[in-house]
Amino acid sequence: MSEIEIIIPDWDVPAEIIAGVSTRAGGASRHPYDSLNLAHHVGDSAARVNKNLRLLSNRYPQHLRWQWLRQTHGSNVHRADACCGPVTADGICTSVPELACCVLTADCMPVLFAARDGGEIALAHAGWRGLVAGILECTIAKCSTSAQELVAWLGPAIGPCHFKVGAEVKAAFLAIAGDLEEREALQKYFKATAEPGKYLCDLYGIARFKLTQSGIARIYGGQYCTFCEPELFYSYRRDDVTGRMASFIYIRKPHQK
Ligand SMILES: [Zn+2]
Repeated sequence: MSEIEIIIPDWDVPAEIIAGVSTRAGGASRHPYDSLNLAHHVGDSAARVNKNLRLLSNRYPQHLRWQWLRQTHGSNVHRADACCGPVTADGICTSVPELACCVLTADCMPVLFAARDGGEIALAHAGWRGLVAGILECTIAKCSTSAQELVAWLGPAIGPCHFKVGAEVKAAFLAIAGDLEEREALQKYFKATAEPGKYLCDLYGIARFKLTQSGIARIYGGQYCTFCEPELFYSYRRDDVTGRMASFIYIRKPHQK
């Protein structure tokens, strides 16, 4: 069995911010979940998922606590003061060190946030429904750090090359535009295709637009397409029955003097 592979975000944050995204490599699950599926709700064997979760946690300090979410494509954000069982939310933030915040995805976009001073982190699960519901704005609002002092990284999601949507998705985004200018800006993230009423949607573009509007100037990532890279990523749109990657972030405790 090969080693597990973790993607490390390429962003400008202090060294005490530790983050990563798991890939498919090095796990125990069989087809169609091969091989590092970290989700219990997709039909994989519980024993194999638990083994995969151990493979992930073994790469990190053993006292680290992992906070999971029950994701609903909504805009509820949980402020974590201590680790507990899975919380129903699509966003999470904390200032508590060694508390790893996690979301599971396979096409939806994980968005990581960190305060420039290293004192706070946040993480959002943002598919198109979550973006329309305002999950990014709600996550930023839940942080005690101001948007100007936050850095964001867009993790692996389905890219503008493959995210085909119907007119109703475009309409949902245009309906939340505050004014004509915003409406026109959002239109640009929907490219018409040869198929009538079908568009290629740029989730990364929409996320950058919304983050910028919210006051975040430092935005990194957004270079992957989960659909385009079957060796590395699960993609729900590509494979239907498939596993999930985990995105996670925590604050490393400063060394005792
Ligand atoms: Zn693609």
